[in-house]
Amino acid sequence: MIDVLVSGAAGRMGREVVRALTAAEGMRVVAAVDPRHADGSVDDGTGGEIVCSGELAVALEASRPAVMVDFTHPDAVESNLRAALDAGVHCVVGTTGLATETLRELSGRSPGVCVFVAPNFAIGAVLMMRFAADAARFMPHVEIIELHHDRKADAPSGTALRTASLIAASRETVPPTPGRETEFAEGARGALVEDVSIHSVRLPGLVAHQEVLFGGEGQTLSIRHDSIDRTSFMPGVVLAVRQVVSRSGLIIGLENLMEA
Ligand code: NAP
Repeated sequence: MIDVLVSGAAGRMGREVVRALTAAEGMRVVAAVDPRHADGSVDDGTGGEIVCSGELAVALEASRPAVMVDFTHPDAVESNLRAALDAGVHCVVGTTGLATETLRELSGRSPGVCVFVAPNFAIGAVLMMRFAADAARFMPHVEIIELHHDRKADAPSGTALRTASLIAASRETVPPTPGRETEFAEGARGALVEDVSIHSVRLPGLVAHQEVLFGGEGQTLSIRHDSIDRTSFMPGVVLAVRQVVSRSGLIIGLENLMEA
């Protein structure tokens, strides 16, 4: 039985994670942490409730989990990881916005422990990124449009940043990004990340969506993924919890667990 602490348990993702881990075989939620919901409870999906703790350090000490799953906020995740790693707890991180250098530094603190980070836990999004990296070898003119709900804290999304990085590693030529010098409104041509333009849309009604748009002579190619429900992320989270307990070091990207 893998004992799991869920950090950010009262959030949109955290609530779904508590339900998914409770339903999964071979693991159980032993603690839920969410400071501004302390002493409130979250539904475990079976008719039971798990009381939220306000203090991660106290919950780590009291519940002694093997794994912490973190879906919190870009401002909170770094100190949460420090606390978990200092307690020798494996980490599954969904929170976006942490720099890779920070993750490397953090995972170096506890060498035998695994820090697994996925910019996107949905299988379809992993495939979208893989197909985009492949297409960029043949069609180097590419821009990314990512679309999320209006309460998302960070922009661009972690998925868009990861896609840009995979495209940069894959394409052999870097074409110019026309129209930047003549923008009438700042930002009209998007943010430039690893020489890829990323456009971030934030609207109520959306969950998590991304289109990678390629252009070539007389043709375009669109690769699009839509998470229309947060349950799309849960099989990836469950897989990561199962796998981190037998791994160590920093692992980024669900594809690295799927091919195991
Ligand atoms: P959310 O609804 O705002 O949930 C975050 C929860 O964490 C909130 O309840 C928040 O409380 C709580 N929190 C804040 N600081 C905390 C701390 N120090 N310790 C514990 N809990 C804390 O956000 P969400 O939509 O669930 O998204 C959470 C994160 O997951 C974001 O970074 C998002 O980009 C990411 N995400 C990743 C994936 C993926 O596949 N990797 C998919 C979806 C979302 P308050 O509301 O009181 O601040």
